[in-house]
Amino acid sequence: MVVSNTRFTAAELATQLKIGTVSAVEAVQCHLDRIDDVDGDLHAFLHVSAEEALATAREVDKDRAAGVDLPPLAGVPIAVKDLICTKGIPTTAASRILEGWIPPYDASIVRNIKAARMPILGKTNLDEFAMGSSTEHSAFGDTHNPWDLDRIPGGSGGGSAVAVASYEAPLAIGTDTGGSIRGPAAFTGTVGVKPTYGSVSRYGCIAMASSLDQAGPVARNVLDTALLHEVLAGYDPRDSTSINEPVPAYADAAVHGATQDLKGVKVGVVLEMVGNGFQPGVLARFYESLTKLQNMGAEVVNLSCPSFPFAFDAYYLIMPAEVSSNLARYDGMRYGLRVEPTDGRPVTAESVTMATRGQGFGEEVKRRIILGTYALSAGYYDAFYGSAQQVRTLIQRDFAAAFDQVDVLVSPTTPTTAFKLGEKLDDVLAMYLGDVATIPANLAGVPALSMPNGIDAGLPTGFQIIAPAKEDARLYRVGAALEAALEHQWGGPLLDQAPELTVAE
Ligand code: GLN
Repeated sequence: MVVSNTRFTAAELATQLKIGTVSAVEAVQCHLDRIDDVDGDLHAFLHVSAEEALATAREVDKDRAAGVDLPPLAGVPIAVKDLICTKGIPTTAASRILEGWIPPYDASIVRNIKAARMPILGKTNLDEFAMGSSTEHSAFGDTHNPWDLDRIPGGSGGGSAVAVASYEAPLAIGTDTGGSIRGPAAFTGTVGVKPTYGSVSRYGCIAMASSLDQAGPVARNVLDTALLHEVLAGYDPRDSTSINEPVPAYADAAVHGATQDLKGVKVGVVLEMVGNGFQPGVLARFYESLTKLQNMGAEVVNLSCPSFPFAFDAYYLIMPAEVSSNLARYDGMRYGLRVEPTDGRPVTAESVTMATRGQGFGEEVKRRIILGTYALSAGYYDAFYGSAQQVRTLIQRDFAAAFDQVDVLVSPTTPTTAFKLGEKLDDVLAMYLGDVATIPANLAGVPALSMPNGIDAGLPTGFQIIAPAKEDARLYRVGAALEAALEHQWGGPLLDQAPELTVAE
């Protein structure tokens, strides 16, 4: 008899469910117990949907008993970033302005996970409207890194990464506009993938910067992210940027990669992504892994992407410009919070909007709306927004030129390991600079994966793999190969080194 265990990967749990050694209700219940045990310390969840998860699990068990043919991940529980609309379950974007709002519809990706019969454990914490790199900008409190509770888990998707890293959920969904899936993955020792732009529907994902936003999978190993990517991806007529092509076999690519055969694969190291400001231990782990890729038959090529140093500046004009437009819908009339002026001004549409936004939005969100509005203003549009779009084109050309020479590009995911809570809160620029290596992929719409890459001073470091658009399968092949090589080196999965909180058996 196998005892349901939160240490199962999604693929392992799916097998146990299929052969009947574990029921879906047991699988959900042991993760709910784990959340009960540890989330008081971690605060990965903003809302736990225990009833809904158990109800889905009961249906799965009933159908399985009746011999119904079920999808591969049926009964495997999942956590969902609270930026993604879930019908009947509160969705806040970690903002006061949406407190109390219950979406009347599901995001398309939530419909996908429901069709895959996956129980939703709850909604995970994030920086307000996904703006941040540490989850310290949530209106509902910080999330803590399970490797060291005094440190940030990365952001904006700190909640999803921590839920997975601390065995509260085998899988989670994140969103990545400039690194919000990959950064938290690097800081917590998990795997996170930002798919090709348009591969996963954005319908029902609360918009931050629409030309950059992309939802994707978070898991504890490469195969699990591939399995979840297959569930999330697919054409959606409700998203005008959705790619209308069949979903490639990502899990097969991961399985192939795990054989550690990288013969014929060309790997590019971008000079501009391993430069100044990177923690020595992060760089050391990166170069060690590069050698492992070579040992598996890959050819490593050094190359230059001369426009990448400007990606950061372009992002911090394009992103806030889109933010200022997308967040204009929060006017105190349509969703969540509504505040009437208390300073004697008459109650008009304008005064209610002002009072609602004043109270409902946090500092960081206000900063970006102001920056974006300024960048788009008539006198500055060409100088700021226009030039940033030109830089974006140059970055896309740099990627195209690089991918003429190599199959994938690699870099450390983040320049440092997880920093202390509060350490960068007053230094906006230092916080923003944590995303230098992740932003280029969003500007070009290309897919990128971050995976655990060994430890520096007791904390996880991340290895990033970037592929050309629609070639996400390469991420899974190369990622699974490196994962297999690294496990060999450590004699066990990296995450077993994570500090035990309490393990539900
Ligand atoms: N940390 C980046 C920012 O603050 C990226 C956010 C994201 O990917 N959602 O904008």
